[in-house]
Amino acid sequence: MSLPLSPLVRIGAYTVKQHIKGGRYPLVLMLEPLLRCNLACPGCGKIDYPDAILNQRLSFDQCMEAIDECGAPAVSIAGGEPLLHRDMPKIVQGYIAKKKFVILCTNALLLKKKIDDYAPSPFFTWSIHLDGDKGMHDHAVDQDGTYEVAIEAIELAKARGFRVQVNCTVFDGASPDRLAGFFDEMQKRGVEITISPGYAYERAADQDHFLNRTRTKQFFRDVFAKGDGGKKWTFTNSPLFLDFLAGNQSYECTPWSMPLRTVFGWQKPCYLVGEGYVQSFKELMEGTEWDDYGVGKYEKCADCMVHCGFEGTAATDSIRHPLKMFAIGRKGVRTSGPMAQDIDLSNQRPAQDVHSSHVERELEIIRKANPKASKHVANAA
Ligand code: SF4
Ligand code: SF4
Repeated sequence: MSLPLSPLVRIGAYTVKQHIKGGRYPLVLMLEPLLRCNLACPGCGKIDYPDAILNQRLSFDQCMEAIDECGAPAVSIAGGEPLLHRDMPKIVQGYIAKKKFVILCTNALLLKKKIDDYAPSPFFTWSIHLDGDKGMHDHAVDQDGTYEVAIEAIELAKARGFRVQVNCTVFDGASPDRLAGFFDEMQKRGVEITISPGYAYERAADQDHFLNRTRTKQFFRDVFAKGDGGKKWTFTNSPLFLDFLAGNQSYECTPWSMPLRTVFGWQKPCYLVGEGYVQSFKELMEGTEWDDYGVGKYEKCADCMVHCGFEGTAATDSIRHPLKMFAIGRKGVRTSGPMAQDIDLSNQRPAQDVHSSHVERELEIIRKANPKASKHVANAA
């Protein structure tokens, strides 16, 4: 990851120290301070809730408590759309004051209007949701004109001296040629890329365009082959994660490396799958049956190759095998030849349907906290 030196040193020192200590530790706090969004992307698994839940917000104090509890050196703020949260500038400032590296993920629709509320800092990065070139992105978010808005926002943020990266999610049917062309364009603009296949969210409106593992691996091989094993472009992802995407590493996920604090609490087990919620990070770490989750263990995990599950594994592998990581950085990702043996899926336990019980429980909490809102909550449900 090419970060400015100061956060890079802090994150590197933290990671090595935790690795030496052993045990499970988080790298990045994933924060969803609200689930409301001003887009409704068909591949999104985060926004399918009644209004009463979409109106919930994590307070400034809850956001600060979350990082103090887990101690991660970095926080990625997503949602929903974080720029809809009234206290977002204060939250970002609060994290920077704690010397945490902040990645603020946005679809950029409000960035021009809100940019004066933020100041450049070596500890702050805008992460703009951009799923490919104009046709790819506008299709992915189901709204024409969003690509131009995002590009304008990138130019404005860069002109103001901010660090900017794009967050690109790949869905089935994407063209390797077009994605490589998009990466060229980002490279020309001096913008780094965070890349990941989409997770097959069970609540997403469009269930037909998620990549399975076999197609993911071949797709990334085809893309990287067009860019000198990926060396032509600047990714924020680690070399070993890119190598994993291309099928050259067989990894199990590390779901606790990027724990999610959302309006429901800490989500068990990970950012992608919500099987339960607890009110403290300690409960999440000690009370989650981690062995019940992961590829080959649980049906909902079968096609997952998402960065928030596997970057942590790649980071551990990089510490254990630095030469392997440097070799990929130097030579690029291998895009031909045999793939690593994948995990056997034949013994995974079946998926459980838990969504409606979470929604009901949360609505009940909202009703109790604000009885006057019960009519509104009932309508929203
Ligand atoms: S993917 Fe992001 S921008 Fe799209 S609806 Fe979901 S939260 Fe909003
Ligand atoms: S494979 Fe791991 S990271 Fe992916 S959904 Fe399952 S538990 Fe979460």
